[in-house]
Formats: sequence, structure tokens, C-alpha cells
Amino acid sequence: MHLMIMGPPGAGKGTQAERIAKEFSLLHISTGDIFRNAIKEGTETGKKAKEYMDKGALVPDEIVIEVVRDRLSKPDCASGVLLDGFPRTLEQAEALDDVLNDLGMVFDAVINVDVNEEELLNRLTGRRVCRNCGTTYHIKFNPPKVRTICDHCGGELYQRSDDTIDTVKERLVVYKKQTFPMMEFYQRKGIFENFDGARDIDEVFQDIKAYLEKKKEK
Ligand code: ADP
Ligand code: ADP
Ligand code: ZN
Repeated sequence: MHLMIMGPPGAGKGTQAERIAKEFSLLHISTGDIFRNAIKEGTETGKKAKEYMDKGALVPDEIVIEVVRDRLSKPDCASGVLLDGFPRTLEQAEALDDVLNDLGMVFDAVINVDVNEEELLNRLTGRRVCRNCGTTYHIKFNPPKVRTICDHCGGELYQRSDDTIDTVKERLVVYKKQTFPMMEFYQRKGIFENFDGARDIDEVFQDIKAYLEKKKEK
């Protein structure tokens, strides 16, 4: 099964993706994580991406599309992937169709997680991430057992540099302008499914899981 998860920044894409990937044995591919790793490693792609990410802007399509084409071409993707945070523009969605065509891959479903803006602000400004394994927490809604330490690996938790109030507001503007209009592309293909993300993490997950189990039976 090949899936995509989308929604505004802070909707819970990464949180749900982690659970979905585990439940359905899929490879979780997050373009945000790929760029953050590239920045950490100091690669050329990382340097270019950082300029845009720090401002809350999108990394240019041609860079992102190359990164995704490369990643999806690797053999570990054949048995099932969950794309998280890509595509984010209509151009990316169209380019992805070409990549999939070349690779003979078909996507089964697009999971959209919908959350109102006030809640997104609360979620993003309280988000904490493990420096070591990337697990995401929230200081109020999904706290780690020890305030600054990852439950899974003992790594240090940090706040993403783009999770400040001003950058978050800019990312929400960018979402509305550049990403929201792309959803119609998948609605027209008939593989788009909307989920109310303004509920408990587990409630949202159970809903998505039930939908995917039905989808798998078909
Ligand atoms: P995205 O990948 O869409 O940006 P994340 O999965 O990183 O979103 O979640 C954003 C923040 O909100 C994180 O701090 C996460 O722990 C928290 N969060 C995720 N889902 C929920 C939920 N259903 N209810 C409350 N907080 C949530
Ligand atoms: P969020 O969890 O808030 O949705 P991500 O971790 O997915 O954020 O992405 C962080 C940043 O990385 C984005 O604000 C953007 O600058 C860049 N990025 C990630 N995916 C893409 C993409 N598909 N196209 C352009 N930029 C991207
Ligand atoms: Zn960790």
C-alpha cells in the first residue's frame, strides 16, 4: 500500500504517520525530516533548504521534487510508503504523477487531516522533537515522561527553529495560498479522504486505521 498524508502545519501528520507506518508496515518518508537531516549534515541541499525553511516559506519545487524522486527510486520503497509533507503545491502533485509513472507505482489513498487555525497555533508552539530519533511530543497534549528527554531513546528534546509564533503564522499563510488549492487535484482522482484532526491523537488514529483496513480489503 502506498499512501500520502497531508494537512496544515501542526495538524498531526507526523504523529499519525508514525502510527500508520507501524500498523501497516510502511516506510515513513517526510520531506521536512529529509531537509532537517540535510541541514544537520551540512549538505548543499540542506544549505539551500534552510534559507526557505527559516522564513516559513516552501523550498522551491525543483529541489523538493528531485529529493523525492531520488528517495522513491530506492528499492526499500517498493513494498509500501507513506509520504508525509509532500506534495505541497499543484506543481509537486503533477511532478509526482510523472515520478510514479516512471517507477510503476500507484498511490491508494490520500489522508487529509483537518484542524482549525487556533488549535494549530497551540500545537505548533508547544511542539518538541527528539534530536536523536525525531519522535514528536507536545508539552501539554502529548508530554514525554521527563520534560526534556525522549521516552523512546533518551535523546534530548528541542523546539524547531520554525515553530516560533511569527514563522508559524507565515507557514499558515503559505499553506492556504500554495497547498490548500492542491487538494482538489486528489479529490478529482477519487482517492482523497478527509479526517477531523481536532480530536485525541488515538481517536484520529483509530478512524484512519479503520478506513485503511477497509481500503486494504478491496
Ligand atoms: P505536523 O506533522 O502535521 O506538523 P505533528 O504531528 O508534528 O504535526 O503535530 C504537531 C504538534 O501537535 C506536536 O507537538 C504533536 O505532539 C501535537 N499533536 C499531534 N496530534 C495531536 C492531537 N490529535 N491532539 C493534540 N495534539 C496533537
Ligand atoms: P510541518 O510539520 O509544520 O507541516 P514539515 O516538517 O513538513 O512541517 O516541513 C517543514 C518545512 O520544510 C516547511 O515549512 C518547508 O519550508 C519545508 N518543506 C517540507 N516539505 C516541503 C515540500 N513538499 N515543499 C516545499 N517545502 C517543503
Ligand atoms: Zn528519541
